[in-house]
Amino acid sequence: MALFTVKFSTPLGEIKGNVAVDEGPMRLAELVPTATQLTDILVRKALKKEEMKGKTVTCGEKCGVCCRQMVPVSPPEAFLIMDLLDSMKPATRAWFMKRFKLVEEIVQGKHMIEPLMNPEYTDEPVLAVAKEYFALQLPCPFLTDESCSIYPYRPVACREYNVTSPPEHYRNPYAYKVEKVPMPLPLSAALSRLTGRLTHTKPRLIPLSLIPYWVSKAGELRWRQWPGLELFEMFMSFMGKLAHSQQ
Ligand code: SF4
Repeated sequence: MALFTVKFSTPLGEIKGNVAVDEGPMRLAELVPTATQLTDILVRKALKKEEMKGKTVTCGEKCGVCCRQMVPVSPPEAFLIMDLLDSMKPATRAWFMKRFKLVEEIVQGKHMIEPLMNPEYTDEPVLAVAKEYFALQLPCPFLTDESCSIYPYRPVACREYNVTSPPEHYRNPYAYKVEKVPMPLPLSAALSRLTGRLTHTKPRLIPLSLIPYWVSKAGELRWRQWPGLELFEMFMSFMGKLAHSQQ
C-alpha cells in the first residue's frame, strides 16, 4: 500500500487527508470509496456554510421524494453498485434485481431507454428526460419503506442532494425552484471523466435504476484493471482540475 496525502483548495476551504492506495492492479469501482469519503467531507463543510447563513436542510426522515428522480451515477459507481448487488444473499439480490427489471420494463415501454442511456456531463443539469422520468414516479429500486436500503453505499449524487427549500417545493421540483445546498466539486464528474479518458469515449452518466441494464452491456470494462498508483494519480489529477475550474 502507498500512502497519499490528498490536498485540494475548494470554495468551501481546503480538503486534506491521507488515503492508502493499493499499488497492485485496481478496478474503476475501487476508486469510488475515496470519492464518497471526500464527498462526505465536502457535504459537511457545505452544510455548515448553509447553517451559518441561517438556512436549514429540510430533508426529513423517510422522505423518498428525491429517490424518484433520475439519479445519475458515473461508470465506476455503477460497477460498485453491481458488486454490492452480487455480494448480497441470493434471495435479497433477486428481490432487488426484480425491482430493477420492473423499472427497466416501464421505461422501455415508454421508449425512454435510449434517451436515458445517453446523458453526458454538461453544464446543464436539468435534462428533459429527467423531467419525464420524474413524472413516472418510479421509486429507486433501493428505496424500501421510503428509506435508502444501501445508505452507506449510496452514490455521490445522493450524498450531495441536500435541499433547504420547503418540502412542498422539492415534492414538485419542476414546478418550483428547489434550493439545493451548493456543492463545489462533483466527484462523480471526476470519475466519469477519468472513465472517458481511459476508454477514449465521452464522459457519461448512467441512471441508477438502469445500472444492471447498462453493466450487462458494458462488457469487460467492469473487470478491467490498471496499475493502482497510476489509476489513483489520474483520478487525483481530474479532481484537481475540477477543483481548480470551480475556484
Ligand atoms: S440509492 Fe438510496 S438515497 Fe439514492 S436514490 Fe436510491 S434509495 Fe434514494
